[in-house]
Amino acid sequence: MTNPTMNHPEIAIPSRAPSATSADDTVMPFEVASLDLRGRVVRLGPVVDEILARHAYPTPVAKLLGEAVVLTVMLGSALKIDGRFILQTQTDGPVRMLVVDFTAPGKVRACARFDKERVATAIASGKANAGALLGHGHLAMTIDQGPDMNRYQGLVALEGGSLEDAAHEYFHRSEQIPTRVRLAVAEELRAGLGGASHRWRAGGILLQFLPKAPERARVADLDPGDAPEGTVPHTLPEDDAWVQGRALVSTVEDVELIDPELSSERLVYRLFHEPGVRVFRGSPLRAECSCSRDNVEAMLMSFSQDDRDHMVENGKISVTCEFCSANYVFAPDEVGGKPS
Ligand SMILES: [Zn+2]
Repeated sequence: MTNPTMNHPEIAIPSRAPSATSADDTVMPFEVASLDLRGRVVRLGPVVDEILARHAYPTPVAKLLGEAVVLTVMLGSALKIDGRFILQTQTDGPVRMLVVDFTAPGKVRACARFDKERVATAIASGKANAGALLGHGHLAMTIDQGPDMNRYQGLVALEGGSLEDAAHEYFHRSEQIPTRVRLAVAEELRAGLGGASHRWRAGGILLQFLPKAPERARVADLDPGDAPEGTVPHTLPEDDAWVQGRALVSTVEDVELIDPELSSERLVYRLFHEPGVRVFRGSPLRAECSCSRDNVEAMLMSFSQDDRDHMVENGKISVTCEFCSANYVFAPDEVGGKPS
């Protein structure tokens, strides 16, 4: 007897209506097989609220860090690694540095370093968008699988654009995978007994074109820049499947990525019901720091006596974790110093 699914592979895939229930703090992978598209939807509720509320950064800085959290979770959860994925910006703008640290399978922490006065000036002059806050520099993505493994690092220039722009540039230049990313962060206001309360929400979608024949994934080069005058610009017709996928994902509005009433399944169904979309089991995320008293103690022990002496205040050494604000207090002789 022949296997009935051999000639009709679609029989093997159960189909059902998209779930109406939205699940916060999850990553949901999906596939649009007929167009060779793959992607992920990230939806963050309590995780991003916990991270951003704890830091109490100025609103535009919090939004920017929220976008970085979505991007990190989106990329880190796609790597089949047992380790950490770290996204870090280093730029000359009012926000000097963003660090988001994702530990497989679902732990995330994040912090920002910024110049208070320059951020205040940017807000006052209405120039506090992502590109203006970041300025120029680079974005680094590091995979760290422990001390015995090589660290992998990808770098992309930040040139006054957004994190979405940087992600597109990275996938175009380094991975040569046609990619579209959308990121959204917002504050949700709610009327409550003690007055209005607010909480952060964030979401994002990643779409990639991964055809079996690699030549179909070719896209035109960006402007060659140094080409001699009169050179015909390099143009290449893009594959119809990618043109269609890219157009669909460009219609996604910020509110659709954040709305607690719209499930990730309904969102991808809304976008891809015509070509047909298949979703995969998502994975849960949580906001959790990896700092500990032991780690901080080991770090202090590794400092020189002179450095430790400079850290003593009122007879104690106090260290605050930049990610989670946890405070660790040591007597100098606990970390190799002389008793005071
Ligand atoms: Zn911590």
